Amino acid sequence: MSGRLERLRSLMSTKKIAAALFSNPVNIAYLSGFTGTAGCLLVTAEGGYLFTDFRYLQQAQNETREFTIVDGGQSSWHKVADLLALLGIDGLTVEADHLTVDGYHRMDAALSGVTVSAVPSLAAELRRIKSVEEQSALEAVVLLTDRAFLHIQPYLRAGVRERDVALELEFFLRRHGATAVSFQFIVASGHRSALPHGVAGDKLLAYGDAVVLDFGCILNGYCSDLTRTVFVGSFSKRQRQVYNAVLAAQKQALAQIRAGIACSEADALARDVLAEHGLAEYFGHGLGHGLGREVHEAPRVSAAVSELLSAGMVITVEPGVYLGGEFGVRLEDVVVVEEKGVRNLTQSVKDLLVVGA
Ligand code: ZN
Ligand code: ZN
Repeated sequence: MSGRLERLRSLMSTKKIAAALFSNPVNIAYLSGFTGTAGCLLVTAEGGYLFTDFRYLQQAQNETREFTIVDGGQSSWHKVADLLALLGIDGLTVEADHLTVDGYHRMDAALSGVTVSAVPSLAAELRRIKSVEEQSALEAVVLLTDRAFLHIQPYLRAGVRERDVALELEFFLRRHGATAVSFQFIVASGHRSALPHGVAGDKLLAYGDAVVLDFGCILNGYCSDLTRTVFVGSFSKRQRQVYNAVLAAQKQALAQIRAGIACSEADALARDVLAEHGLAEYFGHGLGHGLGREVHEAPRVSAAVSELLSAGMVITVEPGVYLGGEFGVRLEDVVVVEEKGVRNLTQSVKDLLVVGA
């Protein structure tokens, strides 16, 4: 954790911020190690304070070393105000992307005399670049997810309900250490596979269906995200063409993405290949997203984002083609951006796969 606090303080000093308050539990855990769900974190040039309540005091002591733990009682905001007064600090940034409007008003009232600025979270900015330990944690959770994909293949056959496929995936992941799923699983078969977010429903898999499986879990605080598309029993010529086009688009992006290129350029790498196949208009979402303590985090890898990719970012590469009323195909891997290319953490096969034959 220590490196994180130093990086945060150097960011605060660049931005001339005397005190930063964090209320998002994901950022509190990232900066302090504390995984309780109530409390806030105050960081100044010299100090670090974790405000929580009676229910979490013991846990806070066990989980965090670098922060002074303060019993916030019924209102942490008033305790924060008292401490700032004691330290002679009259300005504070808060996380604009987490506080509710109501929470902001209550806090502002408690912190009279302090100038509160709501800014995009400084912690979210730090979280863009993953440390070596974080990359290892992501590697482990991606590996578990690859194992789940292997596990599920024998279950995939005509007559099986999408929802049961999702449940079996979840049982496997939880039985092998996942603390939670990282989002509601997509198991979308047949015409439903053309829905980019077709969460598992009551439809039964049928012969000739494309099935998009998009799932992931949380292990040691880090999320995975994997998509594969398989075919039940057989596939049509059109399904094969579309599958191969999506695969070629993903391979092109994986081969060319590296530190220093813009998110929009990364997105174009895959989109251009789909355009060559006349399929670009059916790729209606961005190429990918950052992945870490949350399943969707910065950077957003899409045509509209000019931010440059940096070494140490972990992103998904997930082109897809969705032919409404017919079928859809998506493939998604998780990669670490490096100076000269990417390190692909996902190992699951991506040759065209026929199941339940
Ligand atoms: Zn996904
Ligand atoms: Zn994703």
